[in-house]
Amino acid sequence: MSVSDVEPLARGGYRCLLCDVRVPNSPSLNDHLKGKKHQKLLSVRSCRKSQQEKSLFVSGFHKGTSNLEITDYFQNFGTVANVIMDKDKGLYAIIEMGDTEEVEKVLSITQHCMNGQKLRVKHKETKEFKYIPKRKQSPGKKQWIDFEELTQGLCQAVDVDEQMKQLLQLFELTESEKTLRELIVSLLQEVFLEFFPSCRILPFGSSVNAFGIHGCDMDLFLDLENTKAFQAHARSKVETEEVNGIKEDAQFETQSEDSILSDIDLGTSNTAEVLQLVATVLQKCVPGIHKVQAVTTARLPVVKFIHKESGLQGDISINNRLAVRNTQFLQLCASLDQRVRPLVYAVRYWAKQKQLAGNPFGGGPLMNNYAVTLLVVFFLQNRTPPVLPTVNHLKELADEDDQCVIDGWDCTFPSNQSKVEPSPNSEGLCGLLAEFYKFYSQFDFAGTVVSLSEGKAHLVTDFIGPESETNLRLGPINIQDPFELSHNVSGNINERTGQKFKRQLDEAFKYCRSLQYQRKSNKGKIWGIVRLFQPLNSTDCSPAHSPEVDCSPVKELNHSGNVLTIPFKLSCLSEQTREKLHGSSDFREIWFNKVCHAVLYVMETVLKCGCTCTEGSGVRIDDIKISSFDGNGNDNDNDNEDNTGLKRKHPVEEIPETSSTKKARIETVQYRRKVTWHCEVWSRVWVGRRKMRRQLHFRTTEPDANTGEVVNSLEIEENVSAAILQQEGRGDKSSPLITFTLCAFLVGGNEDTRTTIRVTPIQHTTLFPEFFHFLESFVPKMAEKCFEKSE
Ligand code: ATP
Ligand code: MG
Repeated sequence: MSVSDVEPLARGGYRCLLCDVRVPNSPSLNDHLKGKKHQKLLSVRSCRKSQQEKSLFVSGFHKGTSNLEITDYFQNFGTVANVIMDKDKGLYAIIEMGDTEEVEKVLSITQHCMNGQKLRVKHKETKEFKYIPKRKQSPGKKQWIDFEELTQGLCQAVDVDEQMKQLLQLFELTESEKTLRELIVSLLQEVFLEFFPSCRILPFGSSVNAFGIHGCDMDLFLDLENTKAFQAHARSKVETEEVNGIKEDAQFETQSEDSILSDIDLGTSNTAEVLQLVATVLQKCVPGIHKVQAVTTARLPVVKFIHKESGLQGDISINNRLAVRNTQFLQLCASLDQRVRPLVYAVRYWAKQKQLAGNPFGGGPLMNNYAVTLLVVFFLQNRTPPVLPTVNHLKELADEDDQCVIDGWDCTFPSNQSKVEPSPNSEGLCGLLAEFYKFYSQFDFAGTVVSLSEGKAHLVTDFIGPESETNLRLGPINIQDPFELSHNVSGNINERTGQKFKRQLDEAFKYCRSLQYQRKSNKGKIWGIVRLFQPLNSTDCSPAHSPEVDCSPVKELNHSGNVLTIPFKLSCLSEQTREKLHGSSDFREIWFNKVCHAVLYVMETVLKCGCTCTEGSGVRIDDIKISSFDGNGNDNDNDNEDNTGLKRKHPVEEIPETSSTKKARIETVQYRRKVTWHCEVWSRVWVGRRKMRRQLHFRTTEPDANTGEVVNSLEIEENVSAAILQQEGRGDKSSPLITFTLCAFLVGGNEDTRTTIRVTPIQHTTLFPEFFHFLESFVPKMAEKCFEKSE
């Protein structure tokens, strides 16, 4: 027995590292060490060690060379005890000789040549022996626990805190699962070293970030920096020697150093070329790996593979150093406070069950688990007192050795958690989870950017315009990477997914306020976090199962009581407007003003309604804006011919025409936070629009980037309304069909930035519901068109 096989445990007892067994005291340790299992593993280990010492790694022969041919050749130097070819008889073989002397004899020959091919022969790399226990079921195949099973288990717990701890235990990777992953990494490392000298394989992501679950994928980074240096050095050596006239030997040396590398220059080749090579090595030389596929067109190009025995899926990338570092950051967060892991597991599982994150079908704009985890970290930075420190604070705590800059980004934080003071915050898990949902259901995702560096939310307008230091790709959810500050981790999310995410946060928040969340049911009902995890579309949450809680999708506030919603979307705004918003603290008001003008344009010009502002507009001479919503620069007041109160009455100021503003109208109307219009609709402009469009031979050729929906131009829609009006013969405008008020509010700051427009009928009419239904989708789409027009 080697002493290093036994490790004393902090809580008493010992662990036998060789057998992966824990024992409570010294007598049982002695029994174990004398026992059958330990003795057997000792002898297996010593046998493997001696085999390794007698083994050679050989490559460079023709593809398809047989076991026998290799045996024949090496028998010239002694006994060939065993030959193991790589699985596809591809590129290498391991040869076990009779003893170490014979090995040395083989190695003393400077150049081996077989069937006209120069061979590369060297000692086989020695690797530490590790025992892999036999399993009934391969751990890689074990996926998420069945929801029924989970329900039964967790509902027995005494409180939510215990439920959350149990959830963690059910899902976290076991020691043997971690060992299996380590073994796969060392297997890959061993083979890759043969082809890419000095390379390193570094695992990152959920396999090692402390948030992994059974069967999660293995994200691996193949670090070729040292290999590149090795190759560059070898090449320059060849060149020097060529110059010195020893060309033959020098050439041979490079090839013998590395046959694969002679085909590629790592310094100049592109990612796809290197990944193809990685795929070849994986496919041909690594035993137990199959379904190898290089995916070089993805945002992050990778080589995918599956480890046959365990079913584990792996991805190898070559340009992902930052991910290795942010994985270490997550590890640090997990180690700083024991509440971090149960919280992250709960939120990740919730997001999976609600189909918000961890896209199982590949592709599609879902949140990824990394983004979800960062949201939990940010929330914990924002507790009072904070549970986790900000990234900037961590930087301050780091010492010289911890300094780390990757791709120009400062990724410094302490390597050791002991440098960080424990948090004085003592909130329980149940309360923290409820607060998480409260925090984000009141969060302005569209109007702010989550910054983990500072632990605060910045206005989006700090990130636009030429002066901003980091050019984030802004969207409905903005999470700045903690280190790569120009990267929005949820930049892939579209408007629809963003809305879905917020709706689920809202529902979860409401549920967490109920007694069903906080207290164990004494009637055997589903309670606590289990109900939070009910899968979307689950029939389990029908009222029959739970009469006291309505689990049906909560109607979005915006959709109740005839409210239209126009979300804040920077992408719809012109460069000019964005610049105007840059750094502005009242960007919401500026944007609201734009929305109001756009809505008014849609109602009046596109739909031919009459609108009178009754509340909420004012004149600001210092904020003169040029309106060109009609797209042609024509005067927008064409319809303003009468003053009967049926048409727009807000103050409009004409300025003398100059050559540059010839046909532009100057508006000075400024809408602030709330505005109400009295409106009248003269014709059934919502009926038969599609048919009318066809009749007018208008082509609908502009599918929306997010929804794929076809959105017509303002001009087309305007003409359609005019034609409907004419068809109905209501040009006289004697009596309106529907009269209603439009009341627009600016929302934002404590919730998502948006404009909500309440539509209220003044007189009861059966036409109103269908008219509102039409406005609900028409107005937001057309308002966006107006923003585009105003560029
Ligand atoms: P799982 O694989 O279980 O879904 P994970 O944490 O491994 O969870 P992946 O999506 O596989 O998540 O990402 C692996 C790692 O890649 C992350 O830990 C992170 O380091 C990096 N990563 C993933 N997505 C992003 C992203 N959008 N921006 C920056 N880094 C990312
Ligand atoms: Mg992963």
